[in-house]
Amino acid sequence: MKTDVLPDNPYVLLTPGPLSTTKTVKAAMLRDWCTWDNEYNEIVQGIRSRLVQLAGENTDAYTAVLMQGSGTFCVESVIGSALPQDGKLLVLTNGAYGQRIVQMACMLGIETIAVDSGEITPVDIERMEEYLRQDASITHVAVVHTETTTGMLNPIADVGRVAKAYDKRFIVDAMSSFGGIAIDVLKLGADFLISSANKCIQGVPGFGFIIAHRDALAECQGRARSLSLDLYDQWKTMEEQNGKWRFTSPTHVVRAFDQALRELEEEGGIERREARYRSNQRTLVEGMEQIGFCTLLEKQSQSPIITSFYYPDSPLFTFEEFYDRLKVKGFVIYPGKITVADTFRIGSIGDVYPEDMERLVEAVKQNRFW
Ligand SMILES: *Cc1c(COP(=O)(O)O)cnc(C)c1O
Repeated sequence: MKTDVLPDNPYVLLTPGPLSTTKTVKAAMLRDWCTWDNEYNEIVQGIRSRLVQLAGENTDAYTAVLMQGSGTFCVESVIGSALPQDGKLLVLTNGAYGQRIVQMACMLGIETIAVDSGEITPVDIERMEEYLRQDASITHVAVVHTETTTGMLNPIADVGRVAKAYDKRFIVDAMSSFGGIAIDVLKLGADFLISSANKCIQGVPGFGFIIAHRDALAECQGRARSLSLDLYDQWKTMEEQNGKWRFTSPTHVVRAFDQALRELEEEGGIERREARYRSNQRTLVEGMEQIGFCTLLEKQSQSPIITSFYYPDSPLFTFEEFYDRLKVKGFVIYPGKITVADTFRIGSIGDVYPEDMERLVEAVKQNRFW
């Protein structure tokens, strides 16, 4: 088992990020790195080109831009930089992260249509198509791939097909899936695909990245509604100055990310990592179901990233006690985030293996207080 449970690292994170990382990823941060010289810039350039390679088979038309901040900053930089003044955004929502896109677009003064399908149903492509048919002023379509709120895997290939049939720019929040689920940006027709350092690539938090079609990115010149989140300007600086960030770059986090990418390659790439995550998730669900827990989502829309479970049907159960007991045993889980049912969530991503899930299930069994 590679997972470290060191004295100073007393639990495994079974959360949607930040997540458990390897000792070697953390060790990459244990020295000070110059940010100005070629050596550092080469690392940045290497990361950018490897990210593009990870995004599908035929990605010559794509580039990668790194952006300071958490994942939300990167989503906001895309929304605020891609939409023209007279643009109109359609967002398919079925959870908090889709709603966050709607919220940021509204705050930026962008005309926005939310096509909501509740919390436990995949996004509504039929209704989206109706809007696109009737409203030619819509310029962009946005959707979340894995809606981390529940663990729902949205059918982004179908969304992309319809968005492209109507010639719209297509934005995908693949924050919690990129690196853990194979994605092909060209086949998807994705113009902007967003993810961050601390999810399935298994780095630490501090920056995110946008894999963008060069044509779509070129259109963003002069559109940004924020200086620091200007995606076009960030790209231009990185491109023209060989990997330089416009403002202070998170050097340690970038080094850790470089190491994390190396470890993804060593593991055998995204397909192998996806297989491990699937195996983690299967082990988790099988074990929890044996104890009597039920999953929130139907199997066909369940991602291998994070799983929502209903609370057991007992007045004795509280999430707080469940959480505390598992934490003492070395596992940190996650509260639920939906309104229609009482749930908690357990992540299956990070430097976590099926054996860890077996240990977790055993800990749940032995701490049954309800
Ligand atoms: C994690 C996540 C984000 C970004 O959240 P931050 O807290 O800003 O890193 C956005 N969308 C999805 C689907 C996520 O899972």
